[in-house]
Amino acid sequence: MLQDVTRKLYNENAELSVFEAEVCAYEERAVLLDCTAFFPEAGGQSGDRGTIFVTDREGTEIALPVCDVQIEDGIIRHILADEADERGLALLTKGAHVRGEVDDARRFDFMQQHTGEHIVSGLVHRRFGYDNTGFRLSDHTCTMDYNGMMCAEDVADIELEANRVVFDNTEVVVSFPTEEEQARLNYRSKKEIASDELRIVTIEGTDCCACCAPHVKRTGEVGLIKILRLQNWKGGVRLYIACGQRALSLFRAEHDMITELAKQMSTSWDNIPDRFRKMCEETGALKKELKTLKRTAGGSNSPVREVKKTGRSTCDRREQP
Ligand SMILES: [Zn+2]
Repeated sequence: MLQDVTRKLYNENAELSVFEAEVCAYEERAVLLDCTAFFPEAGGQSGDRGTIFVTDREGTEIALPVCDVQIEDGIIRHILADEADERGLALLTKGAHVRGEVDDARRFDFMQQHTGEHIVSGLVHRRFGYDNTGFRLSDHTCTMDYNGMMCAEDVADIELEANRVVFDNTEVVVSFPTEEEQARLNYRSKKEIASDELRIVTIEGTDCCACCAPHVKRTGEVGLIKILRLQNWKGGVRLYIACGQRALSLFRAEHDMITELAKQMSTSWDNIPDRFRKMCEETGALKKELKTLKRTAGGSNSPVREVKKTGRSTCDRREQP
């Protein structure tokens, strides 16, 4: 090892996506570097993905896809994908120079969800005093658990307030307070953290929380915050949220679906619920009628048998003078 722990470049600049580093070790598809901009899986958030480039003797860069990043005792392991070029892997010797590129679109998506989580959790804590007891952020889901109950109206209020914080475009401040400053700070934290590792993320007027992950610089970058679902969870509640690009993608999908429904029903959007209710009522009445007809058809004077004989239905007969 060139040093005891990996230098975390994402702590210094969350927007850094391209960096250069030296290989400390390579073992079992994991590359250890002296520094990295790749955020590892931590605190319920999935690790970054991207590419590590290594150069061969002819000066050609070989791209090695990074499919996962893990941290243990301060050492960050970049897990390379199974399909990584064997020629490139052979060049990952101690001291080799590499270039790293984090998938910045995915990273930004994660920063939007993560900062949105801070805003919502900060507001929930201030309003109800509940703690965030669980957080999970993956490519498709972002959930937060709280140790207290909320109703749908509470959640709607929090959602409105969270979006006001976005509109205010408040700065998201990252700091490393001294022990003296820590004593005066009132911050949220999911676990006990050693004082020399304490990293505080503050959104003035909304939240103050200990956190190691990358965040956006101002709340405006989070974009729309939509709370999708409220669920009872272990004596409290779980919230599902979508922020920024995810919220837009969801809105687009729902917008397309509603437009298609309106087209199929030959009506306007606002008429869809009423039209659908009428369709359900009609279908219910038809099912009931069919059931009655089937029951009648099963009797001794079965009209179906007569239809078979005469080629006419019961209705045909009734309509005749
Ligand atoms: Zn955070």
